[in-house]
Amino acid sequence: MDTKEAQNLMRRIYLKRDKARGLERTLLRTFHELGELSDAILRDKGQASISDEIADVFAWLCSLANLLEIDLSQALLNKYNNACSRCGKVPCECTDSP
Ligand SMILES: [Zn+2]
Repeated sequence: MDTKEAQNLMRRIYLKRDKARGLERTLLRTFHELGELSDAILRDKGQASISDEIADVFAWLCSLANLLEIDLSQALLNKYNNACSRCGKVPCECTDSP
C-alpha cells in the first residue's frame, strides 16, 4: 500500500468519525498515539508492538491530513522532492547534528 492508498483507506474508514471528533481532538489523539509508540520503543516492547503503534501513528496522521484536506503523498513530494529538504542531497549531507 502506498501513501495515497493509505490516506484514501483511512478516509473511507474514518472520515465521518474524524469530522465528528474535530481537528483539535484528532490532534490530541495523534499525540496520544505518538506517546504509545514512544512507550513501545523506550520499553522495548518488541517489533510487533512497535509495528502496531507506528501504524496507528501513521493512521492518525492520515486522519489529520484528511480533515485538513492535505494530500500527504503530494505534501511529501513537495517537501522532499526525492532528496533532503534542506541540502537537496541523497543521502543528506547537512552539517548540523543528525
Ligand atoms: Zn540534508
